Amino acid sequence: MSDIENVVIIGSGPAGWTAAIYAARADLNPLVFVGVPKSSPALVLPGGQLMLTTEVENYPGFPDGITGPDMMQAFQEQGERFGARARGEDIVSCDFSERPFKLETNKGETVLANSVIIATGATANWLGLENEMRLAISGGGVSACAVCDGALPAFRDQPLAVIGGGDSALEEASFLTKFASKVYIVHRRDEFRASKAMQNRIFDSPNAEPVWNKVVVDVLGDDVITGVLLKDTVTGEESTLDVRGMFVAIGHTPTTEFLEGTDIELDDAKYVQLKTRSSKTNIEGVFAAGDVADSKYRQAVSAAGMGCIAALDAEHYLSSM
Ligand code: NAP
Repeated sequence: MSDIENVVIIGSGPAGWTAAIYAARADLNPLVFVGVPKSSPALVLPGGQLMLTTEVENYPGFPDGITGPDMMQAFQEQGERFGARARGEDIVSCDFSERPFKLETNKGETVLANSVIIATGATANWLGLENEMRLAISGGGVSACAVCDGALPAFRDQPLAVIGGGDSALEEASFLTKFASKVYIVHRRDEFRASKAMQNRIFDSPNAEPVWNKVVVDVLGDDVITGVLLKDTVTGEESTLDVRGMFVAIGHTPTTEFLEGTDIELDDAKYVQLKTRSSKTNIEGVFAAGDVADSKYRQAVSAAGMGCIAALDAEHYLSSM
């Protein structure tokens, strides 16, 4: 059992480290649980989804871009410069029923905290193919975020594939039509689940084309993607689609399993529910920031903004304790 921490931040993406920077500068001596690397079922690294992003071109302040890992290293260095402490462990369960809150680490230790900021993010769902993950990690043209990566030079004027049939897939496809020579939307059924407005935008686009009833069974190419191997979900027939980029948009899973057993309110998709225009959850003293509480915007800069808000809310809460 440790002393009581002022603020424990769970998660080490842009939301977590921005919360840490603000909390540290407010002399709250925050403790950040940066997490343990995992390779299954999907690759998850301390630093979050940006660790799997090669070039970040849309974060303000970096006119020449920056790699995701460099950006997250800079976030951490900035937090530590002001005294934030990082621990390479996971929080596996929480007890918010009494104060101080009790958090259990993956090493079985209990950490006591007066306030908690949940910033554990979400993980993009992947198809689960070996070559998909290999080319995603190496920057070989496979990505789970078109808004992050789609405008890179490698994808300009090239044929690209988006996988999925929901709002994210069509929104990503629509974004890519501005740069790509052609955008194929590969979907496992013969109708999209996305809103009608999104569908109309795609159907009206001259360089977007749905590829119905197909699943990706392999990603082709050694250093960079050259195509995808498709299987027809009705006939079972295999075919190749030549593309120079593949954007997987089959949903995200928020990292909230460790909140099971607590009274924190989650929505139907298991994202943390926040009160309007704040980082406050339904439990006083517990805040949330970034993708774990945001299924819609999911950008590094919006997550960082939410991290700032959470630290300010925590500071305000602690000062009134
Ligand atoms: P989603 O609505 O769950 O759609 C996921 C899509 O991926 C579905 O079309 C699904 O196919 C497909 N899929 C799932 N697993 C697959 C697999 N293993 N192989 C192939 N295809 C697979 O997820 P989302 O599009 O990320 O949206 C999440 C939520 O955010 C939704 O509520 C959405 O409306 C919302 N959103 C809103 C906006 C907006 O308002 N602008 C933008 C983005 C997202 P099936 O259709 O066959 O199930």
